[in-house]
Order: sequence, then C-alpha cells, then structure tokens
Amino acid sequence: MRQCLTSPDGGYYTSTRSDDPSTDPFGAKGDFVTSPEISQIFGELVGVWFMTEWMAQGRPKSGVQLIEFGPGRGTLMSDMLRTASQFKAFAGAIDEVWLVEAGHALREKQRETLCGEETTMVEKHDETGRWWETPSKFGNTVVKWVEDAILLPESRAATMPFIVAHEFFDALPIHAFESVAPTPQQEKTQLLDKDGRPMVRQSGASKQPQWRELMVVPAKKNFSITPEGSSSETRTADEAEPDFRLTHAHASNPMSLVLPERPRYRHLKPTPGSRIEVSPESLKFMADIANRIGSRDGQANHSSGAALIIDYGPDATVPINSLRGIRFHKVISPFVFSGQADLSVDVDFTALADAALEASDNVEVHGPVEQGMWLTQLGIQDRAQRLLKSMAKQSNSSPDSERKSKEFDMGWRRLVEGGPRGMGKSYKVLAILPEGGGKRRPVGFGGGVVS
Ligand code: SAH
Repeated sequence: MRQCLTSPDGGYYTSTRSDDPSTDPFGAKGDFVTSPEISQIFGELVGVWFMTEWMAQGRPKSGVQLIEFGPGRGTLMSDMLRTASQFKAFAGAIDEVWLVEAGHALREKQRETLCGEETTMVEKHDETGRWWETPSKFGNTVVKWVEDAILLPESRAATMPFIVAHEFFDALPIHAFESVAPTPQQEKTQLLDKDGRPMVRQSGASKQPQWRELMVVPAKKNFSITPEGSSSETRTADEAEPDFRLTHAHASNPMSLVLPERPRYRHLKPTPGSRIEVSPESLKFMADIANRIGSRDGQANHSSGAALIIDYGPDATVPINSLRGIRFHKVISPFVFSGQADLSVDVDFTALADAALEASDNVEVHGPVEQGMWLTQLGIQDRAQRLLKSMAKQSNSSPDSERKSKEFDMGWRRLVEGGPRGMGKSYKVLAILPEGGGKRRPVGFGGGVVS
C-alpha cells in the first residue's frame, strides 16, 4: 500500500501531475469523489464544529493551529477557512495552517486553492524542522506544508491544535493476518532443537491455531515491474488479471508475533480462518494526535484542541478483507494497475480510539457516530435550505442555474443519506478532546453549543 500510494517513484498520490489532468485522482473524470468535493457544506460544518470547540475551550485570542492530514485538493480547508472568516474573533485566533501532504502536485494544487494561483511556496527551516509556506487568501493566516506527519513541529503549550483527517486513514498501510491451525509438517519444521535439528513440539500449546501474516506475492512466475510499469497497464480493469495475490506466510514472523496479540483480537485466534487487519501506522498517527491535544508537559490542565477523524469503516468490529482498488469510480482488485489506482481499506475506529486513549491520559474520545447523524446535529438541513433560497434568488431560471440548484440539493443529501450511494451511514466521525471527565459532549455527539 505504501509503495503503490506514496512512493516517490510512481506512487498513486505522488505521481499526479498538474500539467496532466488525467492523473488527477479526484472528481468525475478521476477515480473518486469525496464529501468536501460533493458539497461545500461539508467543510463549512467541519469549520463550525472546530469553532464550537474553540468557544467551549475558552475562546483564546490566538494560538489556534489548524492541522490537516491528506488535504487532497485543499477544498475542505478552504471551506473551513472561508467559514471561519465570517466569525472575526475565531478567524483572528488562527495563527497557522499546517497541511501534511505526500504528493508534490497535490501540495501545489492546495496552494492554488488556499493561497491563489499566482503565489509560490517558500522553503523554510528553523530548529524545529523544514517546511514550505505561503500566505493564504484568508486574513493573516499562513499555510505551511510538510510531506509527512513526523515532520510537523511539536505543539507548544500555548497552541490549540485543531486536527482534521478526512479519508486519510483509509490510505495507510495495513498488515492482514489469518488464524491458521498448525499442520503436522509445520509443527515439525518450526521448532529446532539445540543442535539446530527440527523437532516435533510435544506441548499441547503448539496445536493451537497461530496468526499468520497474509503476504502479497507475484501472481505469475517471471513477473517484473519495469520502469514502464506493470504489464496490466495496457489492459482495462475488467480484463486485467491480477499481478499479485495474497498468500499465508509459512511461519510466524515478527509482525504476526506482535500485532495480533493485543487483547482486542485474543478471542478470534482460537478459530482457524479468523482474519484481522491492523494498521500500525494509523495507531502511531493517533498517538501523535492524542499527544498534541493531551499531554503537553504531562499536565491535564494544559490539554487543549480537538481532532476529527472522518472516514469509512465499521464502528466496533475489526475490518477484514477490506483492501480494494478504486479506479474510475469502480471498485477493482487491489492487485491490478499498481500505482495507477487508488488503494484503500476500512478504518478500524475502535483501534484508533484505543490508540489515542493509550497514548495520553489527558484525552477523551467521542464516537464514532455516523456521518449523517453528525451532520444533521450540526444543522446541515437548515444550512442547505438557506443556500438553496439564496441560489433561487440569484437564479435567472436558466437551465444552467436550475441544474446547479438540483446538483447542490442532491449533493448535501448524499452526504447524510444511507443506501448504496449515500455516505451518511458508511462514513463515521470520531472526535478526540482534552480529558474533561466526560462532562461535556461535543456538538454532533449529543452535545450543544457552549458559549
Ligand atoms: N481529504 C481529501 C483527500 C483524501 S485522499 C478529501 O477528502 O478530498 C487522501 C489524501 O491523503 C491525498 O491528499 C493523499 O496524497 C494523502 N496521503 C495519503 N497517504 C499519505 C501519507 N502517508 N502521508 C501524507 N499524505 C498522504
């Protein structure tokens, strides 16, 4: 997944080119559309949500840091900043915007969206690290970019980090495991005696199923990826035969001895055939997010900020068999068009929540809740009606303006509705907040606005 998506050498997100629209992953002509691209209200309400947190956390006059992981075209952040700019005190509190983006052309696209076409990025560095920056179109806010989250500077005590990741975690690599009953052959070859000779394990324990990692191997002999790409390029998705397949590792490996041995998976191991997906990189990012919000100086009273993780995946169960390719709005095998198709997995929200709580005693988590419910509680319907009215006022009853209103109406509904095309049930929202003894629920998670 990592190589296919973000390798500097031909990764899907890293080889989009601004001079070649056919390499743009987003939109009707690309491979997929995301909520911020479907309706401006999505980003507006995410912006409003962070503002309600800023209000509930004492309305500081400065120090707000907006951080986005995987900003795509920059649409979500642009809608958030435009919304913030209508509330002077909140807008004035935003010192800087940090964007974490692996792809060069996508960073340039985000600069155009947030700063204007004629601007350029300037490379900067200080004792905290190296980044690019450009003044934004929105007030005095400066936009700063890093390629990887580990390059973000540490939060200072005086900052209030507001972190958003929309359809970011589904792009992070997973390890997949299956519980396998040992065959007599495996038992023999697995244990060596002190002279290095294979010995048959005597204890009953060896008869227990063991986790085996599922590995990606070439599907055919003599397969090679040339600089021109894999052989599937000349074929269409329907006729392409997979270049790779999954197979069990023959024995335990360091990953299978550590990752599936967490309490969350313990009850699955005794049943041969149980599968699980684990994303250690996601857990590391969650720990980082929790520490930004929760553990400044290890003092609970220094905790501040909030994070929203919005993605698809089950709210409580462990994802299985979820790796898929996405090309031209169709789900395809993950093993064709490597580097030219999007790859994604279901996000394990419970594992993300656990990782945040394990990393810091000073945070609490809310959710995951369904996106449809979250947007409804934030007032999506009212906002849509108001926008539709103002569109109707400006409309000249031309077919074009009628088409626009209709598209707009379908767009926001798609974000809240269930069903095969709707995103309201499959997408979930998880929030990380400073620990407050569970006394205050955030907006969208059952709570109201605190002012
Ligand atoms: N949030 C956007 C884009 C989602 S696509 C939207 O909703 O429209 C995933 C985004 O994450 C892309 O911008 C991609 O380049 C970026 N990305 C994926 N893996 C990444 C990684 N490991 N590090 C940094 N950025 C990554």
